[in-house]
Amino acid sequence: MKKHNFYAGPSILSQFTIDNVIEGVRDFAGTGLSVLEVSHRSKEFVAVNDQAQALFKELLEIPDGYHVLFLGGGASLQFTMIPMNLFKTKAAYLNTGSWASKALKEAKIYGEVVEVASSKDANFNYIPRDYSVPSDADYFHITTNNTIYGTEIKSDLDVGIPLVADMSSDIFSRRIDVSKYAIIYGGAQKNLAPSGVAFAIVKEDILGKVDRAIPTMLDYKTHIDKESMFNTPPVLPIFAAFQTLKWLKSNGGIEAMNKVNVEKADMLYSEIERNKLFVPAVSKDEDRSIMNICFVMTDEYQELEQDFNSFASSKGMVGIKGHRSVGGFRASTYNALPTESVAALIDVMKEFESNH
Ligand SMILES: *Cc1c(COP(=O)(O)O)cnc(C)c1O
Repeated sequence: MKKHNFYAGPSILSQFTIDNVIEGVRDFAGTGLSVLEVSHRSKEFVAVNDQAQALFKELLEIPDGYHVLFLGGGASLQFTMIPMNLFKTKAAYLNTGSWASKALKEAKIYGEVVEVASSKDANFNYIPRDYSVPSDADYFHITTNNTIYGTEIKSDLDVGIPLVADMSSDIFSRRIDVSKYAIIYGGAQKNLAPSGVAFAIVKEDILGKVDRAIPTMLDYKTHIDKESMFNTPPVLPIFAAFQTLKWLKSNGGIEAMNKVNVEKADMLYSEIERNKLFVPAVSKDEDRSIMNICFVMTDEYQELEQDFNSFASSKGMVGIKGHRSVGGFRASTYNALPTESVAALIDVMKEFESNH
């Protein structure tokens, strides 16, 4: 039976990525060696690293003055590296979910953190809009897509101070204006590569302003100076990311991805709204994520939750159980998820409805 992969992360990758990784594991770039056993300083791998950075810049239209870094430690290490490199006296954070809260907690180690707004009171089911960002904060941190709760900030904010964004789960899903950000970062395992590498797009001129001593490995400058080759980088995940970037480009880039992503999300949200058994977890249309679509059973049909989960699994739907902090269901519809999988899930929802 065909499986439809709705996992939130690690998550679906394009068949192109998987096929090319398999090939590279067998024979990397005609070297006669596996990508698992080549030096990260070999000319073949240096070329992969360079081309992956170049494709990042091309696809996201990254302006001059920014560097693309591939780092270990996941998005979670960025929660620490950001304040370590940017925090002088005060930072501002928007609290829109578990990941945002974790980022905020790390910043507090360095001093005063202003939580400008939080949607915690409503289990993070909306994006706060009425807040002001203190103009004397060193930076403002947001999480553009809240993977667990299914909310998303879908436009680039204008805030007068350096803007830092965790885009782990929506990078490459929609156009962004990179020039509005000081740092954009994320783990690769949602929309780009297997786990093991994080990306950071860093504007060089925001660095070098803090007095503290920064451990070498946690200093963005170290990695900028060495083109992410200060120490051994995660070779295989970078190789996989390179394949996904090529796939993105040959499929029309971000504009084309976004068009399909919006189509997929519209299809699924419409069915959730139409189907008598389900209701979207996020009520406001403008706050709904196009990458992680969360829904729950209506009050009347609560007791069918387990049954639907088993029914959907029996039909090849994988990974739709919602995160334990929301319950219900979550269908992650990342770039590599075909429209056909969304259609298959919708058929399953309809069939389940007609059985009840
Ligand atoms: C998954 C995720 C993280 C955590 O990433 P790790 O690479 O596991 O540290 C952080 N932020 C967001 C928005 C995520 O979706």
